Order: sequence, then C-alpha cells, then structure tokens
Amino acid sequence: MGAYQDFHQRSLKQRDAFWNEQAALIDWHQPHTQVCDFSRPPFAQWFVGGQTNLCYNAIDRHLVTRGDQKALIYISTETGQEKTYTYRELYKEVNRAAGMLHTLGVVKGDRVLIYMPMIAEAVFVMLACARVGAIHSVVFGGFAAASLATRIDDAKPALMITADAGMRGGRAIAYKPLVDEALRLAQHPPRNVIVVNRGIDKDYTPVVGRDLDYATLRKSHAEVNTPVTWLESSEPSYILYTSGTTGKPKGIQRDTGGYAVALAASMKHIYCGNAGETMFTTSDIGWVVGHSYIVYAPLIAGMTTILYEGLPIRPDAGIWWKIVADHKVSVMFSSPTAARVLKKQDPAYLTKYDLSSLRHLFLAGEPLDEPTHQWISDALQKPVIDHYWQTETGWPILSAVHGVEKTPLKMGTPSFPVYGYDLQILRESDASEAAADEKGVVAIMPPLPPGCMSTVWGDDERFVKTYFTSFRSKQVYATFDWGIRDKDGYHYILGRTDDVINVAGHRLGTREIEEAVQSHANIAEVAVVGVADAIKGQIPIAFAVVKDSSQIATREQQAAHEKEVMDAVDKQLGAIGRPARVHFVNLLPKTRSGKLLRRSIQALAEGRDPGDLTTIEDPAALEQIKVALAGG
Ligand code: ATP
Ligand code: MG
Repeated sequence: MGAYQDFHQRSLKQRDAFWNEQAALIDWHQPHTQVCDFSRPPFAQWFVGGQTNLCYNAIDRHLVTRGDQKALIYISTETGQEKTYTYRELYKEVNRAAGMLHTLGVVKGDRVLIYMPMIAEAVFVMLACARVGAIHSVVFGGFAAASLATRIDDAKPALMITADAGMRGGRAIAYKPLVDEALRLAQHPPRNVIVVNRGIDKDYTPVVGRDLDYATLRKSHAEVNTPVTWLESSEPSYILYTSGTTGKPKGIQRDTGGYAVALAASMKHIYCGNAGETMFTTSDIGWVVGHSYIVYAPLIAGMTTILYEGLPIRPDAGIWWKIVADHKVSVMFSSPTAARVLKKQDPAYLTKYDLSSLRHLFLAGEPLDEPTHQWISDALQKPVIDHYWQTETGWPILSAVHGVEKTPLKMGTPSFPVYGYDLQILRESDASEAAADEKGVVAIMPPLPPGCMSTVWGDDERFVKTYFTSFRSKQVYATFDWGIRDKDGYHYILGRTDDVINVAGHRLGTREIEEAVQSHANIAEVAVVGVADAIKGQIPIAFAVVKDSSQIATREQQAAHEKEVMDAVDKQLGAIGRPARVHFVNLLPKTRSGKLLRRSIQALAEGRDPGDLTTIEDPAALEQIKVALAGG
C-alpha cells in the first residue's frame, strides 16, 4: 500500500488543496471562494460561494461532445419494454419535465415528492427538480400509505409525482391508490399529483382537480426549454429518508456542489468508469445507491446508465449477465443479497454470456461474507469489490480505490478508508483508538467529506444529537456499525452496534456468528439474533437457508445438520458463539433493499410484535420464522 496510502493521507493533511483539485471534475457557473467552511462544527459547508447545478453537470455539459451518445437505457423485464435515450433526448425530456414543474408553480427550494417505479420518467423528474432547484424526495415504491404519509408531512412537498402502478415478478402493484390513501392521512398534502399512466392498473381513476396526466403535460411542454437554476454549493439538492431498518427514518439532506464533486471523484478513483462506457447498478431509485449510481454519478461522468425494472432471476438467473453482454457494461454495482440469491441458482448462468467488457463488480448494502465474496469472484473471474457506505454519506466510506492503486482484494472486507474520510475504530469505553484486530465503533472525524449529509431535514439539532454525541469526550460521527482493522490495514464491518448479542457478558456481533455458521458448506444464508435468556442474558438463535435441502429431508437429518452447524461455529468462533438453536427455513425476511429484518426476527423469537413491516420483501418469510419457532 504505497500510492493509495499517500493519496488518502494527502486528502486529510492537505484537505483543501486535495478537494480543490477534485472540484475541477465538474462544471461551475461561479467558482468557490472557500473550499471548506468548518467554523460551526460538526456542520461543514463545501465549496462556499461556488454556484453549480446537478442537472447541468449530468446533461447539458455533455451535449456538445456526446449529444448522440446513449445516456439512459431503460430495460423492463416486467413489461418487456426497452428504450434508449441519447444525451440530447434526455435533455429534451428533462426540459419538458422541468417546464411542467414551472407551470405548476414549483420554484427553487420547493420539495417534490417522487413515489415511482423504475421507469424512465422517474429519472426525468429527478433531474428536472435538480434543474429548477427544487428539492426532490424520492420515496421507495414499496412503502405503504402510512409510511408515505409520514414522509409527506416531514417534507411538506409542493407537488407529488407518481405512476398508476409498478410491476414485480409479473404482478401489478398499484401505486396511485396508495398515494390517495397517504394523502388522506397526511396533514400537509400537496395541491397536485402528476401521474404517469402506464396503463397497467385498469382501475386507475384520477382525482379531478388534483391529479394531472404526465403524458398530457408533456405534450403541452414539448418544445419547452427550461433554463438551469444555479444553486450555491451548499443549497440542498435532495432529501432522502434512511431505510428505517433500525427505527424512525431520518430525512438525510444533501447539498449540491459537494455532492457533485464527490460523485465525479468517486467515478474516477473508485468505480473507474469513463465517459462513453456503460454502468449498470441494480438498485432502485428509492435508495441512495439509485440516487448516486443509477442517476447522478454515471451521467455526471458522461457514461451510459442502465435503469432496470425487474428481478434478478426473471426470466432466468442469467438476465443481469445478458444485460452486461448486450450493452457492454464496464462497471456493475449490486448487493450482497443479490449475490447470495444468484448463488442458489445454476452457476452456468454466470458463464453463459460474454462478460469481457466488465471490469469490476461492486457490492454494498450489507456485510458480504467471505464464502459469497469468494464464490462470486471465482464465478465471474473479475475483481469483486465490497464497499461500505450509508445513506448518510451518499458515496463510499470504505473501499478499494483501484483508480489510484490496484491494492490486492481480500475476501470479506471492504478494504480501506476512502480518501476524504478520517476513519477511526474507537473503543466504546473511552473513545480511544482500538488496536489492530480489536473490535470498535466505526467513526469518522469531522468534517465529513463533500457529498455527505449536511443535516437532517428541518432538524439541525437531531443531526448533531443523532450522529455526533456517541462519545462524551469527542465530537465524532458515529456510523453505528462495529468494525475491525486487521494488521494489514483492511477493515471488516461486524454489524450494527445495536445488533450485538451479549452472551454471559461476552459481546458478540451477529455478523461474527453468521460468518461462523456460514463456514458450514451447506449453508447459503443465515440470520442470527440474540434472544433474551434468564441465565445468560441473551442467547444466539440462527435461522439458516441451506443450499441442498435434500440433506435435511427428515427430522433426523435436520437434527444431525443442526449439530454439524453448531460444531462448525465451535470450531470457528468457540462455544460461546454457538447458537442455542439452528432453525432451517427456505427464505429469510428482508427489506426490499435486501437488508435482513433482524429486529423483527428477534421480536418474534421473544414473543413480541415484529414492528413496522412495510418494506418486507416477502411476508411468507416471517411466517416461516413463526413456524420454526413453534417447533414446526
Ligand atoms: P436506518 O439507518 O434507517 O436503520 P439503514 O442503516 O439500513 O437504515 P442504509 O443507509 O441504506 O440504511 O444502510 C447503511 C448500513 O448498511 C450501514 O450502516 C451498514 O450497517 C450496512 N452496510 C452497507 N454496506 C455495507 C458493507 N459493504 N458491509 C457491511 N455492512 C454494510
Ligand atoms: Mg443506518
């Protein structure tokens, strides 16, 4: 580690000079007068006085050099639709959408709530908001009416944009009725709702005087050119609520200039995506990964981005690789969950297509266990880069930075702190730095680098209190994740600080036990939770999905298998981490972004209410947990 270490050090020691250079990766209407204003810690303002615009950087600046290049490829295996937009065509669509916003009275600083499936119009309206300086708040299409209403009341949007319906696994999911219900519940409903009518929901009925048809508005704005509204660098670009995996969602507020610079720099140094190449990110626009790496970053970098509506295994488990081959994808970004889903399918799908264009596969969102990391690296014969970040940061915190130095990849670790992040592993007791191989809280010394959240929407106090008061002696940003740094400087994320199991005074991360369970060759996936126990405080219970279920066909086989798994944990971690029970299930309850609903499993195991389940992928998974717990 030479070149990268120097690069990282320089980003901290000569912070302003470093970011001043990165700032040149985007176009500015007005240059900044100060790189970083940190006079009111922990609030940081980046590129003070600079004026820019995200939409201008994503589209306008490319028109001369790459107007006829593909900007957006929309592929839906749900509707069978595929449509391509060049930069010039994208420019036109976004100008039309921006014109609609103006007509409806949306001005700079107004919030626009977007509740849409993965369709091209969703990208148009996000960029249109950026164009006119409106603050978009995209709410993931899986959220139920009550969750949507909470977000409406927090953001108080001037306008909402939705569609009649989405599709998932061939089933139509109505969106508009949910919006109607949410608006009935909300205290601060907007005056108008624009609806993209895809013709999927046959029962779709607009509310007269409130709902407006996207296609009709588009027609009346066909030739409209909407000038860019320049924003001061610190002015907000969007609000995005965190997944809510661990409780009440927070409205993460992002700035404009810092975000644009951070994304442009990340495309260059981390993702190694070049103008003219194609990026395929398999997330959803409702999540931060979708914001940063489906919409903004690839376009800012002059790449072609792929917007995919569909499942990873439909029509078959080769679909993503077919897309990579068909569109010569260079950079791909997905999640560990997706990798584990593919692991359960025929591995032949991974070698069926020509993947020679693909340079890297990036995975983020949850811990990537070592066996899965190894498996997918071997199957693809490509570098698979685990990287770690949060909605709060907007771009990676830990990653290999192969644009600077091709450091060797170790399986099961997201490598090193990314430039700009002064990351430390701190002891919970006194905020001192943990030694190599010693577990601690992953913390970032402020200021947070450009692109990270500037505050919690409408609540500066909550920003400080939530993120910066974990330690009395030091004002540091807490990620609420456990981590470890090995003696070679590689970092491991051991799970969330509130996912700790306390067995007879020993504190174990759920991730540690899960990895140990997964060392058994027949385990595809596992969730471990701590369950209250009168004697030991807590005991770990495991719910595991096996690769080959013929090995657990009978009760006797199941019992033998359970014993084998426990032995595997003993060997790897010691008897202290041994789960009291290993229940075998066919699937685990997850959010639609692929995060394990550990808290819900734990609640069920302790006989409590499983809580808010609006984003659950498949409710049948919870049923299986219940059955397993009941001894079925
Ligand atoms: P909430 O904060 O509302 O509970 P959330 O934390 O699930 O929701 P996100 O911001 O989407 O919302 O997720 C970030 C979290 O995901 C990280 O804090 C970490 O726990 C986990 N994570 C992300 N990437 C990785 C990774 N590569 N390895 C391990 N964990 C990861
Ligand atoms: Mg979080």
